[in-house]
Amino acid sequence: MTVQLGMPGVRPEPIARRRKSRQIMVGNVPVGGDAPVSVQSMTTTVTSDINATLQQIAELTASGCQIVRVAVPSKDDADALPIIAKKSQIPVIADIHFQPRYVFAAIDAGCAAVRVNPGNIKKFDDKVGEIARAAQAAGTPIRIGVNAGSLDQRLLEKYGKATPEALVESALWECSLFEEHGFRDIKISVKHHDPVVMIKAYRQLAAACDYPLHLGVTEAGPTFQGTIKSSVAFGALLAEGIGDTIRVSLSAPPAEEVKVGNAILESLGLRERGLEIVSCPSCGRAQVDVYTLAEEVTAGLDGLEVPLRVAVMGCVVNGPGEARDADLGVASGNGKGQIFVKGEVVKTVPESRIVETLIEEAMRLAEQMQAEGASGEPTVSVG
Ligand code: SF4
Repeated sequence: MTVQLGMPGVRPEPIARRRKSRQIMVGNVPVGGDAPVSVQSMTTTVTSDINATLQQIAELTASGCQIVRVAVPSKDDADALPIIAKKSQIPVIADIHFQPRYVFAAIDAGCAAVRVNPGNIKKFDDKVGEIARAAQAAGTPIRIGVNAGSLDQRLLEKYGKATPEALVESALWECSLFEEHGFRDIKISVKHHDPVVMIKAYRQLAAACDYPLHLGVTEAGPTFQGTIKSSVAFGALLAEGIGDTIRVSLSAPPAEEVKVGNAILESLGLRERGLEIVSCPSCGRAQVDVYTLAEEVTAGLDGLEVPLRVAVMGCVVNGPGEARDADLGVASGNGKGQIFVKGEVVKTVPESRIVETLIEEAMRLAEQMQAEGASGEPTVSVG
């Protein structure tokens, strides 16, 4: 029989109608409008260490990062920007706190965008006109990045703490200053460490303007906690169509942030899924060690870049159903594994051969998908 495998590159159905935002270009990456939600991260190297920074950017690029931000706390860092911006494979955003002169240095260096924190740049409001003119002339977008931890003193006094209203008022105030100079090449973030405050802030912001939004939960924590917080917050907002680019903040290597960011988008169907292992949690009915089986299959398929769903199931209760629904699957029981390809049992193997058989079949399907992906809907014959 002939079955459809689905073609790599097909955009999934959106989960919700995207909020209408204006589109800006961060280098060659469109952000906002109908552009796919992009994933970004930030280097942890000292920016003035050009080789280390470019090395980390290369690693981030390889892990699926689309835009990268670098910190610019010193003149040495600002001096490194021209080379970094030129040699990076992905657009570089300069992250500026405190010193307005580095904003101009970043624009002159050819950075794809500049992030400014209006809460802590000295006399920022007085500098907006000059920044707007320089950014306009160079075609450089500005991210207004409001952060709960460094909120404008005036708003802290007005609201008592970094409430959603305070974050939004700070962002919109700065936007209005840029708008006075005819500059609207802006994206905004209003980050908070508490997902509840963050979600409320972005909802308010989304309703109040049409600028593209950069989602982030700031200081989200170590990998486990940060992943949960970011997934919950981004998931809630993206499921409402809010958010144009995301940055997961983790106390972990930045490539981990990118993995989590990509996985969030894949989970929501906002990005084509890559390899997906569907494995059961195991229970008293399991007739095989599901954890080990799932781990071995995951390790064996590491690096496979086709959208393949592989089901690893522990018994015959839900096993055949899930295995049938996946591109490839196994339902285990009685010391054997029934191997499914696209809903059909193609063979039954002893338990000791389940892993190698799944990997062989996955490789075969992947090769076929890659070979046929460019010309119409790929198919595979089974039976
Ligand atoms: S598939 Fe079977 S072993 Fe796995 S959780 Fe479901 S009932 Fe339990």
